[in-house]
Amino acid sequence: MITLALSKGRIFEETLPLLAAAGISPLEDPETSRRLIIGTNRADVRLIIVRATDVPTYVQHGAADLGVAGKDVLMEHGGEGLYQPVDLGIARCRMMVAAPVGFDYAAAVRQGARLRVATKYVNTARLFFAAKGVHVDLIKLYGSMELAPLVGLADVIVDLVSTGGTLRANNLAAVEEIAPISARLIVNQAALKLKHAQLQPIIATFRQAAGVGGAG
Ligand code: ATP
Ligand code: MG
Repeated sequence: MITLALSKGRIFEETLPLLAAAGISPLEDPETSRRLIIGTNRADVRLIIVRATDVPTYVQHGAADLGVAGKDVLMEHGGEGLYQPVDLGIARCRMMVAAPVGFDYAAAVRQGARLRVATKYVNTARLFFAAKGVHVDLIKLYGSMELAPLVGLADVIVDLVSTGGTLRANNLAAVEEIAPISARLIVNQAALKLKHAQLQPIIATFRQAAGVGGAG
């Protein structure tokens, strides 16, 4: 049995065509089904539906052989025990530092004062600002990061930005890019050896369907 971990929403939707290319179609729609284990047309392939941030954890521990996870989630997780053979080029966005319009970010960074940063990506933010030599107080949030600078909880936020619409609606603007983001295929390293014959064709098809070459 091959188990693939996916999250609902954009990751599931954008992975469907890649699954189709591999001859795999889910028997149920996770948006309407309450089931967390979803069969496919292939008796030897099943899907498990987990939170986006939990995908690397299931794959790392071998509870899933494969998964699809955003680069943001993988940077935050650290990627231990995971092989990342394919950048799927889906769920594209950018991880950015954003601040209220008019906030002098360059000056704040230059002056060496402590910057208060609200984010759900605390590990990524810590590494990013440490590399720049900027002292930060990190404030962990689980959502609606845009609110934090508006009510004085933080000076800036670290969050994903695609169109920038949510930032604009809250009078914020992106001030620095941390990384371009897209979703990756991840594979359990032990499973890759033990189930190589079953996994390799799926990995190869995903790579071809994503229209990309080597590791990302
Ligand atoms: P939830 O929204 O349920 O709290 P989540 O934010 O972790 O969970 P999604 O919003 O479905 O889940 O995001 C899943 C992945 O899609 C993210 O990890 C990221 O890689 C990518 N993503 C998030 N926001 C965007 C966006 N605006 N545009 C493109 N890709 C995005
Ligand atoms: Mg979300």
